[in-house]
Amino acid sequence: MTRPRPLIPALAVVAICAALFLAAARAPRPDHVTRETLYVFGTLVEMEIRGESPARAEAATAALGRLLQALHDDWHAWRPGALGDLNAAIARGEALTVDPGLAEVLRTGRRLSCDSGGLFDPAIGGLIGLWGFHADTAPTGAPPTRGDIAAHLDARPRMTDLRIEGTVVSSSNPAVQLDLGGFAKGVALDLAAAELRASGIANAVLNAGGDVNVIGTHGKRPWRVAIRDPFVWGAVAAVSLRSGEVLYTSGNYERYFEDQGERFAHIIDPRTGYPVREIVSVSVLDTDGARADAAATALAVAGPTDWARVASAMGVSAVLIITEDGRLVATPAMMDRIEPAGQDFPGPVAIMPLPPQGRPPGCDG
Ligand code: ADP
Ligand code: MG
Repeated sequence: MTRPRPLIPALAVVAICAALFLAAARAPRPDHVTRETLYVFGTLVEMEIRGESPARAEAATAALGRLLQALHDDWHAWRPGALGDLNAAIARGEALTVDPGLAEVLRTGRRLSCDSGGLFDPAIGGLIGLWGFHADTAPTGAPPTRGDIAAHLDARPRMTDLRIEGTVVSSSNPAVQLDLGGFAKGVALDLAAAELRASGIANAVLNAGGDVNVIGTHGKRPWRVAIRDPFVWGAVAAVSLRSGEVLYTSGNYERYFEDQGERFAHIIDPRTGYPVREIVSVSVLDTDGARADAAATALAVAGPTDWARVASAMGVSAVLIITEDGRLVATPAMMDRIEPAGQDFPGPVAIMPLPPQGRPPGCDG
């Protein structure tokens, strides 16, 4: 008679097999690529992870998807959500307790706005809505009247009106209406990249419609990112990014409003209440997505004669500007890094050194 075989060794074999399977699933695979796309912040966000096991990479992209979708909902400028609640409280002249993440983003926004001398100002949501950009589709109809715009300018909403004490937010000016569109993608991709790093992902790219954060490399070579040509289909230049670098571009060629043949960009000059014109594209290479995003918006507002000063004040050094008449201007730090995307640049690239003044005092509070 044969005795039944003990159960323990059988279980041990199963456990060893399971451990081996899990180890195989976790082992990095140099050639493996996982891609995922998500529609948030009014654009397609592409995530690509290289060199991880499929199980691990898919878990990471799923977690990022949840993170980005939650931020999109919380920070939406015109749909109901956490930011909408705060805007309603501000309009009523009341303080509101927000979640720590939103309080931190507002602190960052206030500092960046202060550094930019108010050219980047997420408190001008009322003006952005007035121009019709608080909608999923391009605005139609007539532009706002001079009177409407003057009323907003008279109310002078600005980010420095915000008081943020811990997580309690209020505004000394009820005309403040927050719209984080000028830097939300940067903040969100910075958080997403940090989450990837924390979960041990070594090589990834996050691309929100040309605003890009990278980690590690693309196999044996660096991640190479193109800067779109604002006038024709194609790229004006490309940059090979190092791990931890970001490249952000603000332009008035994607979201705009057309009336009687005239184009109105979705970047508004808080000083005049009118959309910017002379600069059609600003690219900023940096290591901080929030700052790069805000600076790209601010430099478009600053215009061709003042952008270098504002770049220096915001602490960014690598900038490429394209003006409405097609001129390309780069700072020396950007010139060192850009390569033609094809045979050559579309035209000569003028070099503009940055003035040395640095960040203005009193912007850290
Ligand atoms: P893109 O979305 O093309 O990358 P931006 O980063 O410049 O461009 O963001 C444009 C958005 O920023 C607008 O849709 C609006 O929500 C907001 N915005 C417009 N003008 C300003 C400004 N002067 N300061 C801060 N935010 C702005
Ligand atoms: Mg921006």
